[in-house]
Amino acid sequence: MTDRCSVLLIEDNPDDARLIEEMLAEEPAAPFQLNCVDRLSLGLEFLSSQKTELLLLDLSLPDSHGLETFARVYAHSPKVPIIVLTGNDDHMLALSAVKSGAQDYLFKGKLDRELLVRSMQYSIERKHYQEELEHQANYDALTGLPNRNLLHDRLKQAVSAQRQVRPIAVVFIDLDHFKLINDSLGHNQGDKLLATVAERLRSVVRDGDTVARLGGDEFVLVLTDQAKEDVIFRAMQRIIGRISEPMTIDGHELYTTCSAGISLYPQDGSDVETLLKNADAAMYRAKEHGRNNFQFYTSEMNQLVNERLALEHSLRRALERKELLLYYQPKVDLKTSAIVGAEALVRWQHPEWGLILPERFIPIAEETGLIVQIGEWVLRTACTQNRAWQDAGLPPIAMAVNLSARQFRQKSLEKTVARILSETGLDPKYLEMELTESTVMHNAEAAIGILRGLEAIGLRLSVDDFGTGYSSLSYLQRLPIDTLKIDQSFVRDISVSGAANDAILPQAIISLGHSLHLRVIAEGVETEAQLKFLKVHQCDEVQGYYFSEPIPPEDFARMLAAKHPWRNQQR
Ligand code: C2E
Ligand code: MG
Ligand code: MG
Repeated sequence: MTDRCSVLLIEDNPDDARLIEEMLAEEPAAPFQLNCVDRLSLGLEFLSSQKTELLLLDLSLPDSHGLETFARVYAHSPKVPIIVLTGNDDHMLALSAVKSGAQDYLFKGKLDRELLVRSMQYSIERKHYQEELEHQANYDALTGLPNRNLLHDRLKQAVSAQRQVRPIAVVFIDLDHFKLINDSLGHNQGDKLLATVAERLRSVVRDGDTVARLGGDEFVLVLTDQAKEDVIFRAMQRIIGRISEPMTIDGHELYTTCSAGISLYPQDGSDVETLLKNADAAMYRAKEHGRNNFQFYTSEMNQLVNERLALEHSLRRALERKELLLYYQPKVDLKTSAIVGAEALVRWQHPEWGLILPERFIPIAEETGLIVQIGEWVLRTACTQNRAWQDAGLPPIAMAVNLSARQFRQKSLEKTVARILSETGLDPKYLEMELTESTVMHNAEAAIGILRGLEAIGLRLSVDDFGTGYSSLSYLQRLPIDTLKIDQSFVRDISVSGAANDAILPQAIISLGHSLHLRVIAEGVETEAQLKFLKVHQCDEVQGYYFSEPIPPEDFARMLAAKHPWRNQQR
């Protein structure tokens, strides 16, 4: 029979165990499935592996004694009802066990069948009821989310259980104009809306995070391990966006938005009450800011976020306002000192903020997806430029363009590249794509396919920032690439003396590259010592301030036209 109640007896005295076994065997109305072990350790093992609905526990066992035995079992399986078995004289002990959470106790000398069975049934029911009460005390009935009570416990635990301080974000969320919805549609639909919001909140946070409902239309999120403002920023954008998506309730399409306030542990408060209070205060500010937004408790955080928002906002218009431009940095052949290539590096000439470097806006472009349009513009502009230089009679060079991870994964990439090449009339062999090591290795199997497609078009491929990620050598061997680009950080390690041992990595990368029949280029070359070192170790190309910073196209054309652009820097 499968629906028999599984009972575990932990008892080391074989006579006592047999007695209980016999009593239960005689009881047809109470179909218990009894399992016996004689050690605590075996009992815990059993509890870990088998579903157990009741536990009969002798407190004095060979491997544990007295209340300690109970405590260990209870800590291990707090949800299993426990009946404690003791000798006749142990009233105090038995009562202590009950106070610590046991459902009942029985004296072994005074057992009879009826008493035992009654106690077992009673204990199971009582535990069940307790669990229900506990659930009601800790969870919200409408949404099933933790309630205020449990939120406090969890947050307190998150704050106090820390050995080293780890940041926590407390997000206070209140729906906008919920009262209006509730009054006009009725409570029934209001409740359904709240349940939907709860579901959505749960779906956007990570597994370890808490979503709680405080009551009414107030929710609180506890996000652990979210340190940096841009991570929280993105999470908040996700949350606010998800809440504002339309929902269908009883055939009605409904919309709602929310306002949110965020406090951060430890800087905005060291205890639960302060963190909640400050998140609440920040939420009110979000309401004042016109709702459907979020605010941090501190002004510094808000400022960082506002700058970011402004940047993002402005970036959306940068392309149509023609504020983006390309600078070009020469790549120099180490044997001939000739310029053999250029890297196109994007700049943003902002009308108020001046020239902005890619580090500040490329990550935002990545996150917002704007990178796809920006990348296409870069590609077209660089190809057009290269073709124009060739048409003007300048020596043909390879034009390198950086490709971001998101662009790389675009399904249409291959088509886009082919189209731009044909539109601009540039021979594919004069186009090179730089992909960072992490982009390529992130999903190497997929990368190989994409790279093969690009290779088939006839362009060159190089792995940028090489050495900073984790390359699998077996994949590296299979990638259809032409060039490894040693990351600047390793070039910087080449000291003034050019001493051998502080520059093991560039040297290793060069020989790795050559043994895979790849060209190797070093970027960030600034000093003569670095250049010499790279020459000695037979690096193929170099790029860096030593020769030229990235410069506007007119300057680059002049440099390309000059017979000996490095005359003043001759080594
Ligand atoms: P990257 O592709 O590794 O480019 C090299 C960066 O090093 C450039 O910074 C360049 O100006 C700088 N650099 C060159 N020589 C030296 C040197 O001798 N010393 C030092 N300290 N730095 C040197 P930049 O232009 O600020 O670009 C930074 C990064 O932004 C690039 O790193 C690339 O990852 C990204 N990026 C630039 N343009 C684009 C683009 O059009 N699309 C994409 N997706 N990313 C781009
Ligand atoms: Mg690059
Ligand atoms: Mg690089």
